[in-house]
Amino acid sequence: MRRKLIAGNWKMHGTQEFIREYVDALMPNHITLTENRDVVVIPPFPYLSYLNSLFEQTNLSIGAQNVSSELAGAFTGEVSAEMLKDAGCDYVLVGHSERRTLFNESNELVAKKLLVAKSAGLTPILCVGETLEQRVQGITEATISNQIQAVIELGGDTALEDTMLAYEPVWAIGTGQTATPEQAQNVHEFIRNRLEGLSKSLSERIIMLYGGSVKASNAAELMSMPDIDGALVGGASLKAEDFIQICETTG
Ligand code: PEP
Repeated sequence: MRRKLIAGNWKMHGTQEFIREYVDALMPNHITLTENRDVVVIPPFPYLSYLNSLFEQTNLSIGAQNVSSELAGAFTGEVSAEMLKDAGCDYVLVGHSERRTLFNESNELVAKKLLVAKSAGLTPILCVGETLEQRVQGITEATISNQIQAVIELGGDTALEDTMLAYEPVWAIGTGQTATPEQAQNVHEFIRNRLEGLSKSLSERIIMLYGGSVKASNAAELMSMPDIDGALVGGASLKAEDFIQICETTG
């Protein structure tokens, strides 16, 4: 039985005041929220330590939106995996579609980030997904397979141990257009079958989130699918009440 996980990706939003109000709204629910599922909030880098300090007496976790592929050194503007761990992160997103499309992150770079994150003791959440064009061309599965293959090529057959996956169709991110539960389930099932070739046990254990315009109104239906183990929530995670509702409908 896989434990459910809900992750809230704030993207480039937030202030200290926003965080105080958000955490105040979360606090009365924090025990029940994390009883049956894991909950992780993923703010921008400057707020990681602050949010971590506010989550101290709770089971709520924090994660980062990105990580450097380099360990340390003269890489101005980069943030290392060890720094994220030091700031209290348990999780880190790698290969979010906004990083892949807006910042030209290749499958190979994403693979390197995943391995560096793992070596620092973080749980990487590998984001994969197809663009609308790729879906129309009928290459959804090939696209995702290539994204996964890059990690296996660099890290070997065990590269995806101690990681999580997030299937995020690019056409559903921030667009309000959610994949239907069946569309999402089909891809999740494909990924699980793809991983079975590596390790049956891994394919059964690995936690796979769905992301792309998840809202309180559609979360329950998506989460009821057999291969969907949680959600990566962008826009709707910015309202604490909505995020709480999404968590409560899951698991
Ligand atoms: C995301 O940022 O990963 C995401 C899925 O965003 P949204 O929920 O806004 O589509």
